Amino acid sequence: MKKIVIAVHGGAGPDSALIRENIEAYQSGLEDALSAGHSILKKGGSSVDAVEAAINMLENNPLFNAGRGSVLNEHAQVEMDASIMNGLDLNCGAVSVVQQVKNPVTLARAIMEKSSHIYLGNSGALAFARQQGLELRPDAYFITEYNYNQYEEEAQHQTANPGDAGERQARRKDHGTVGAVALDEYGNLAAATSTGGLENKTSGRIADSSMIGVGTYADNKVCAVSCTGDGEYLMQHVAGFHLHAIMEYKGMPIVDACNYLIHDRCKAVEGDMGLIAIDPSGTVAFAFNSERMHRGWRINDEPSEVSIYPE
Ligand code: ASP
Repeated sequence: MKKIVIAVHGGAGPDSALIRENIEAYQSGLEDALSAGHSILKKGGSSVDAVEAAINMLENNPLFNAGRGSVLNEHAQVEMDASIMNGLDLNCGAVSVVQQVKNPVTLARAIMEKSSHIYLGNSGALAFARQQGLELRPDAYFITEYNYNQYEEEAQHQTANPGDAGERQARRKDHGTVGAVALDEYGNLAAATSTGGLENKTSGRIADSSMIGVGTYADNKVCAVSCTGDGEYLMQHVAGFHLHAIMEYKGMPIVDACNYLIHDRCKAVEGDMGLIAIDPSGTVAFAFNSERMHRGWRINDEPSEVSIYPE
């Protein structure tokens, strides 16, 4: 059998009580995503199918900040961002600030395959989802009690401490965005990322997770990568394509390239940054500078590996 690999992340950021109290549920959420991707790859499915299926599992799991379980913006609304890329032909699709779409990564894929564009946003993206017959849900489906309480607490804090947005963003990142990378038996790489963004964000704010070359990048010749952390810093450093460039132009192996990007090139960044990546030989690599990054991978039929904190 040719090598098949799936790897996922469930966000990089600070540790939190929510995470510590739900470690097993987080681990099994990551396992479910790995097995959704793995079973597709094992049947000869494509890496694009595998990353979409893995992300769908995480989007449907309210513990993760994507799809159901997305955090709320300043108006207590969910606005989601996602992207997907096929390493075979650099085809890609992305969606930003979308509401009501059950699985934003599936919308990103529909944009990639069924529109003549790459990136749709907001009401136009929702209209395209409707036209494509994608599953929609009422706003309440996406909002968990935990996220609503977090929103309320922050809104009260804001009223008592006007102008404290910077500190707020640093305090409010206690569960994460999701991403996946895969290698299929035909040697094709793919990557995808999906998020509800940052807690209490300004309405209309767009996450790196939907940006090709920042949150997501895939190229069969070099690597597939999905990033997580503080989107504004990931954008400044064009994180996904940056990893690709280090590998392609410097010939750096994937493990070294991930470590170089996060711990050396971006050493001075005062925010969370993390990524998972895979190269054409199926080597999985990850790096993060945060207290935790939910992550896991499965290579061929070997048991899956899942972890949350630094080893
Ligand atoms: N990168 C995401 C954003 O900026 C958040 C995350 O990865 O946790 O919205």
